[in-house]
Amino acid sequence: MIEVGPIWDRVFMVGGPGLSHPTDCCVYLVDAGEDLVMIDSGAGPGVGQIVKNVVTIGYSIHQIKEIVATHCHIDHIGGLAFLKGLCGCMVIAHDRDVEGIELGDARLTAANLYDLDYDPVKVDIVLKEEMETHSFGDLEFHFIHTPGHTPGSIAVYLDLDCGRVLFGQDVHGPFCDEWGSDINQWRRSMEKLLDLEADVLCEGHAAIIKDRAEVRRHIESQLRRYQNL
Ligand SMILES: [Zn+2]
Ligand SMILES: [Zn+2]
Repeated sequence: MIEVGPIWDRVFMVGGPGLSHPTDCCVYLVDAGEDLVMIDSGAGPGVGQIVKNVVTIGYSIHQIKEIVATHCHIDHIGGLAFLKGLCGCMVIAHDRDVEGIELGDARLTAANLYDLDYDPVKVDIVLKEEMETHSFGDLEFHFIHTPGHTPGSIAVYLDLDCGRVLFGQDVHGPFCDEWGSDINQWRRSMEKLLDLEADVLCEGHAAIIKDRAEVRRHIESQLRRYQNL
């Protein structure tokens, strides 16, 4: 069972189904010393509970300086506007998903499927490269462009004292023409994630895997699941 609190070293779970709201993706918080960095923000209706969860584990919401939007779907970006208004944090996303985040088209954001309203926000740090590293607080955040689920999907990894943590988010797909999904790009993106040999995988909706061999098996099983598409 997934609970609010520590996952691994400086990584915490602060939101997700059963923790903040049923529509939320898994929301993670990284303690980077001076900065707290949030990975995704949930769908919106649960953002107040996410804030409470941050406080419950002993942090101030105003310590959040950056939020990474791993892609432009509402279950990941719906809480951005509220959090940005509350703590003035910077939003980080890939260039190819900026349109969905800044203009909020209901099909690009999948808000039509969730029957939710999305409040658009400006992206402050636009990622454009295949791979980029940015320092926040005392940690280096490595961003990898992993298109497939959406054109601007990204994964993030950190090398912490006790190993490599990968925020793979929507590793499991799914794929839809309205989102600009591309299964062949996704396969190449999953190969990139396998090459990282992460010790921990924080996925976007269900799994937190804390074993290097299991992380590999999980990603490979997703590749097999879609092999006939
Ligand atoms: Zn998605
Ligand atoms: Zn998702």
